[in-house]
Amino acid sequence: MDYLPIFLSLKGKQCLVAGGGEIAFRKASILVRAGAVVRVVSPALCKSFATLAGVEYIPERFQPSHLDGVSLVIAATDEAGTNEQISREASKRNIPVNVVDNPRLCTFIMPAILDRSPLVIAFSSGGAAPVLTGLLRGKLEALIPQGYGRLASFASRFRQTVKTHIGDHGKRRIFWENVLEGPVAEKIFSGDEKSAEAMLLSMLKDENRSLCGEVYLVGAGPGDPDLLTLKALRLMQKADVVLYDNLVSKPVLDLTRRDAERIFVGKMRGDHTLPQEEINDLLVRLAQEGKRVLRLKGGDPFIFGRGGEEIGTLAAHKINFQVVPGITAASGVSAYAGIPLTHRDHAQSCIFVTGHLKDGSMDLDWEALARPKQTIVVYMGLHGLERLCSELAAHGLPALTPAAIVQQGTTLNQRVICGTLATLPKIAEAEKLQAPTLIIIGGVVSLRDKLSWFHPGVYGKSPH
Ligand code: SAH
Repeated sequence: MDYLPIFLSLKGKQCLVAGGGEIAFRKASILVRAGAVVRVVSPALCKSFATLAGVEYIPERFQPSHLDGVSLVIAATDEAGTNEQISREASKRNIPVNVVDNPRLCTFIMPAILDRSPLVIAFSSGGAAPVLTGLLRGKLEALIPQGYGRLASFASRFRQTVKTHIGDHGKRRIFWENVLEGPVAEKIFSGDEKSAEAMLLSMLKDENRSLCGEVYLVGAGPGDPDLLTLKALRLMQKADVVLYDNLVSKPVLDLTRRDAERIFVGKMRGDHTLPQEEINDLLVRLAQEGKRVLRLKGGDPFIFGRGGEEIGTLAAHKINFQVVPGITAASGVSAYAGIPLTHRDHAQSCIFVTGHLKDGSMDLDWEALARPKQTIVVYMGLHGLERLCSELAAHGLPALTPAAIVQQGTTLNQRVICGTLATLPKIAEAEKLQAPTLIIIGGVVSLRDKLSWFHPGVYGKSPH
């Protein structure tokens, strides 16, 4: 993060804008909106300034004395030398300064703003891509209705009452989220503040009944955060506590609520930071404390994810839960590797197996796997790759059957290694692959030559 976003209180504070053009006008306007006492210094002003009331004009060129008593300054003159001088003089006096379009001379930068006062959202790319920032702002503009400003004002009216009624911070948050995401908010959006108030007060009386925790068992997909479902994202933004393990990529984890508690429960091959039973019990305990618990799992929770075991314990304790499917590795990774799992010329069926059993062995139905025109996808198979390939060959699959290993599919670290049943183990050994890896075996692998489209290496290495 190159800049720290903060919100500055400028109410009643003297601010200076140097310059009289359209940009200076926009900056002066926004300062006025923030309640600042604005002084504009410029020999000439554009017409727009005529519409801006309550601003002091000084029809002069900038002089250092104009900075006397000023809390913040924006330089928007069309003279590079003057802008530079303003930056220098302001810095000397420790006055925050912004020089339009010149980050080098700034001690702060101005974000793009989405104003639903009292709700204000600020966007910045630190000067890297202002157009992108603008696009993003546009998207959120559509997502956040005007009514949100009214909702925030409404919430502020009841903040103290709710605080007095519900002492516990966590429970209070849940109460507010129920208010802000439920029917009360809808009433505000439709302009019926009276009913909204009545509903809120009745919820307050009934506080204990409306506060019970629940668990969201959510599939996080194979790594690329764009592959999350909308429901996953919504619940990720809602949960108070997040339990996650190695398979959940960092960019995905970053989309969980910023102030949620995050608990790493481990899990690498054969190394469980928390034993499964303890994870199951922890989910129960947290939900019983009234928390909204997100159990975030790589891929799909019901595919080699032990999702069934975890919610089994929840069901036994009568805890509410929801299951949100995710894109499983087979599906996401094959798509990003350009390997269709089925294809009329190559495979009419596709089978998912795990190469790693609870006791560490690999006990597969080799005959069922070694069928023609079938794609085999092996999860957790790298360790047993050699055995896998030799058993398949021994059970009749031609040694020349195409086979691939995909490392960290869908992420910027994706690598795809191709070979045949006969050659893949040696190639894999030489490549020093990093977990997780997925093995795909079958004629479909040959299609990659034509269909590969995702080449993350082109843009450099992942920062994660
Ligand atoms: N529930 C998960 C699978 C958990 S088992 C799902 O539906 O995808 C863990 C195995 O999944 C790993 O050993 C690996 O074989 C596979 N896997 C998960 N994410 C992967 C990725 N991004 N790239 C390659 N393999 C992946």
